[in-house]
Amino acid sequence: MHRLLVKSATHSYPVYIGTHIRLHINRFLPKHYSSIMVITDDHVAPLYLEDIKKALRHYRVNEVVVPAGERSKNIHTFYNLHTQALDYGLDRESLIIALGGGVIGDLAGFMAATYMRGIDYIQMPTTILAHDSGIGGKTAINHERGKNLIGSFYPPVAVIYDTYVLHSLDDREKRSGYAELIKEALLRDEDFFNALLNTNVHDLTDKQLVNDLYKGMQIKSAIVAKDERDNNVRQFLNLGHTFAHALEAEVGYGEMTHGEAVALGLLFALHVSTAEFSQPLPYSSLLDWMQRNSYPLDLSMIQAQCMLERMRFDKKASREHIRMVLLANIADPVMFDLEIQKMKRYLVSFLNELSNRT
Ligand code: NAD
Repeated sequence: MHRLLVKSATHSYPVYIGTHIRLHINRFLPKHYSSIMVITDDHVAPLYLEDIKKALRHYRVNEVVVPAGERSKNIHTFYNLHTQALDYGLDRESLIIALGGGVIGDLAGFMAATYMRGIDYIQMPTTILAHDSGIGGKTAINHERGKNLIGSFYPPVAVIYDTYVLHSLDDREKRSGYAELIKEALLRDEDFFNALLNTNVHDLTDKQLVNDLYKGMQIKSAIVAKDERDNNVRQFLNLGHTFAHALEAEVGYGEMTHGEAVALGLLFALHVSTAEFSQPLPYSSLLDWMQRNSYPLDLSMIQAQCMLERMRFDKKASREHIRMVLLANIADPVMFDLEIQKMKRYLVSFLNELSNRT
């Protein structure tokens, strides 16, 4: 088992990463709690909820199971969680456990942040992608006008990450999570990046998962410790995301997982960085790895102009420029303002290059 300490403005919290640690979750609670509410979704509940309840049998435990997927990150589900917590008699000495992927982590985290002005919660990530969302303290639900528009910074008291549960993820979710690991490696660690390029994401051992997730979380926690509130260096974690957010919206949410879109966004960032910094960057080796691992690469239905329009709506865009993270080199990220017409030329050349390769 690996242990990591994440620093936040209010407290430091441990992250435990290991195989089968869900069966002993009681050992990792930071203190005694009057009662516990486990929040999970209807894919995860039949697989792992009983294990958690068994490990917590000496506590008063209630559970709430919400429908799986992004649609549960809404104000109605959020309000119902509060009602159920009141029905169960949760008080300020109670604990919430978020057992699930990033959706449950964000929803249960925000519920914990607001219930009686804030009670303790633990993240138990069950997806690879949630290695990213599980730390850093960003919690949120969606507004009908946009993702994550209602939320707060509210770090958990611990993160308990059992990598055994990741084997039941389907291939798309595995690809999705590994894209964020690739991003973290590109931001900070060339050796880690090269090691990831030897990974077959559809055939992962427990040892490999523990090591990769530990490294990814080390990188994210180091960045978040420097800038918890997202004012400067934390924005580097958006590498690949300006393109990815536009692409997800363009193909329609749910058609492509977030991480699959991020992987293409990373490729686009390498395409632009290579041209802007005249620096040899691993565009081809990343593309080869994505091909070997069955990432979606066919963007023949995507128009550069439509992507450009979407990017112009990004929070960080101005009338003349679109801001994105580039790499002056591996492990050397920079914020860059690209003039609109230049961005369009890069989109056209990237989409052409990709269609020639696939
Ligand atoms: P998710 O939580 O919807 O999980 C993906 C799917 O996998 C769901 O159907 C879920 O039921 C299923 N699943 C989860 N664990 C499983 C398991 N062990 N075995 C089988 N199936 C399992 O999605 P996600 O990709 O984990 O997270 C995406 C969310 O994370 C988005 O809402 C995004 O906004 C958020 N996010 C938040 C942060 C942050 O810093 N707070 C960062 C990145 C992403």
